[in-house]
Amino acid sequence: MNGEIIAVGSELLLGQIANTNAQFLSKQLADIGINVFYHTVAGDNSNRLKSVIKIAEQRSNLIILTGGLGPTKDDLTKETVASHLGKRLVLNEQALASIQSYFQKTNRQLTENSRKQALVIEGSEILPNDYGMAPGMVIKTKECVYMLLPGPPKELEPMFLKYGKAALLNGSKTNGKIISRVLRFFGIGEAALETKIEDLIDEQKNPTIAPLASDGEVVLRLTASHSDNGEATRLLDEAEKKILARVGQFFYGYDSSTLFHVLSDKLKKAKLTIAAAESLTGGLFQQELTAIPGASTIFKGGVVCYATEIKRDILKVKDETIREKGVVSPECAAELAENIRKLMSADVGISFTGVAGPDSQEGKPVGTVFIGVSIAGKTEVKEFQLGGTRDAIRLRTAKHGSFLLLKVLKTYRPDVS
Ligand code: ATP
Ligand code: MG
Repeated sequence: MNGEIIAVGSELLLGQIANTNAQFLSKQLADIGINVFYHTVAGDNSNRLKSVIKIAEQRSNLIILTGGLGPTKDDLTKETVASHLGKRLVLNEQALASIQSYFQKTNRQLTENSRKQALVIEGSEILPNDYGMAPGMVIKTKECVYMLLPGPPKELEPMFLKYGKAALLNGSKTNGKIISRVLRFFGIGEAALETKIEDLIDEQKNPTIAPLASDGEVVLRLTASHSDNGEATRLLDEAEKKILARVGQFFYGYDSSTLFHVLSDKLKKAKLTIAAAESLTGGLFQQELTAIPGASTIFKGGVVCYATEIKRDILKVKDETIREKGVVSPECAAELAENIRKLMSADVGISFTGVAGPDSQEGKPVGTVFIGVSIAGKTEVKEFQLGGTRDAIRLRTAKHGSFLLLKVLKTYRPDVS
């Protein structure tokens, strides 16, 4: 099925609101394996709306229209679709009853234009509106499926999730279950990850596997559909196993949990505390960790050791190290990690030193980063060459630190990994 989305509303064309409905729907449709090739916006004008519907019909067999289902004069989506398809608008008793009860509940008199919202295109399947008055509609012709959804995202999103999706997936109302699972990866690019599992992506139809990259991370969204929840979960488990057999070393977590969440959980489980010495990240790592509720059980504190004298005077990096190796060096990172651990009486010390740019430092190019991890008297340092803007380098550095520490924990405390 090839879908396309037509958002109706002059305020979209005027730039007063962003077309988040199209964004939401595209994401949802991708999850259930429906391609979306076009987004269009039309103003509140029947002729122009008709002309974009005609274009859409030539290239798509699912057309979702959002907005313009309300009671006012500028709401003309269903009137336009009805006239375009040569169908009448008929009163839907169920919709009228729900509008009436809404007015009763709020102690108001039913207005004539509100009754208009109970009019639906004849022969359409109704999508109930649990958070507003105008019902959605699905009309199926031989060539095309048309879905009409209300404009307000608070109405559209739950309506699509609860009723719209099922109407698309199973022809009519059935209870097909769709379950998604997001696998999160770090330290591998989108293209490299895709290459390693290309055949799985191509072969797999249930679940579908869709890669997505952002902020130096890659996620894979697996989406299974089955009438039975347990069976859908089993399909996901099976696909996950196949994927992790190939790229498991880059995997760190599920769904919306970030690297920092996962790290925080693991430290909590291992009953370990952490302290950080941050140079180029300027406290970013500590900010991320402390943003997670319950940080006090794992986080001791840290030092933003931006200037060389702070590294030397507060964190006791040796003069000799600074003179001979520089502050952007594995030796400096090691001393910082070890010394912050001791200074804060923490179980784990982590350090970040490097060149965020735009200028190089000590003859080291922008993106050179050293991260130290000190735990149980042992200190490990890893060097990175990171790309991107100053902000991107700083954020990636904090993420690399979390990922590196997760790896160290895997060997040090396999019981919590
Ligand atoms: P109502 O009954 O509220 O009039 P409607 O179905 O007629 O709903 P519109 O009148 O087109 O929808 O839009 C109502 C509101 O919904 C807009 O003012 C805007 O806040 C929001 N909205 C409409 N279209 C979109 C869109 N494509 N993306 C995000 N928000 C939207
Ligand atoms: Mg409206």
